[in-house]
Amino acid sequence: MSHSAARARAGRDRTSLYQEITDKIIAELEVGRVPWVQPWGTAAAKAPLDMPKNAATQRRYSGINVLTLWGAVIERGFSGQGWLTFRQALGLGGNVRKGEKGTTAVYADRFTPDEERRRAERDGDEPYVIPFLKRFTVFNTDQCENLPEELTTAPEPVPQGLILPQAEALIAATGADFRIGGDRAFYNVLHDFVQVPRPEAFFEPINFHRTAIHEVAHWAGAAHRLGRDLSGAFGSALYAKEELVAEMSSAFVCASLGIKPTVRHADYIGSWLEVLRGDDRAIVRAASAASKTADYLLAFQSDDSKPAETVEIANEREVA
Ligand SMILES: [Zn+2]
Repeated sequence: MSHSAARARAGRDRTSLYQEITDKIIAELEVGRVPWVQPWGTAAAKAPLDMPKNAATQRRYSGINVLTLWGAVIERGFSGQGWLTFRQALGLGGNVRKGEKGTTAVYADRFTPDEERRRAERDGDEPYVIPFLKRFTVFNTDQCENLPEELTTAPEPVPQGLILPQAEALIAATGADFRIGGDRAFYNVLHDFVQVPRPEAFFEPINFHRTAIHEVAHWAGAAHRLGRDLSGAFGSALYAKEELVAEMSSAFVCASLGIKPTVRHADYIGSWLEVLRGDDRAIVRAASAASKTADYLLAFQSDDSKPAETVEIANEREVA
């Protein structure tokens, strides 16, 4: 690539990055959130009020990075303000956990165009420099594992009694990689793990169980388990069908565990109706798949020695 092409690209990247940041801040303000006044001390904020810092160097982040990293801590329910690059985590003997998405931070740099350098040499004065932003990716220490203990913020243990023992025992018996934390519940197809927010994050902690079993039902549907098609894009009929199976599976398993099932995904009802109206066999098929899933999961109760085999699935996807 020629120098001018490289410069043109750097120029575009500069503009878009400033614009991207500005657009994000505008979007926040438009919905009444002020990015530099985060709701510390509320249920959404798990981390203590502090400036974000690099956990390896202890340097504090500054400028726009403070807003970005604070925003990520609140939005994603991280428990601390320490951040690391992928390499820094490795350098500390740890690693970023599989499937974790990083947060984009920026640093200010400057460059002098070649032409300007030549002009300055010719005229014998100082070349002007163009300040610009470059992006890099950091991960909260919550997203890392095997870090030295002093760098990790140990998550608060889930208070006794919030997770019903029969549900906890079943989930453990499945051998599923089941993670508690964050602000969203999902099954990550590629890395084959389930994540569910802490029970306290639910308006009624009992809903933790329904959500947890729903996600474990997606886990059970993976290609190398019950082999359902989990490739439906959000909003597609395939997605709605899989949600229907997961919701019914959760209802069947919860009922078996003595947990009263409820409709959690009221917002999905419209898409389910569409599926049912378009295919008169859909509900029978979904209920059958849900029964198989419930049987598959409940079978772990009596036999916890079955190892869960893992295979890599080629597409990066999450099923919520
Ligand atoms: Zn789901």
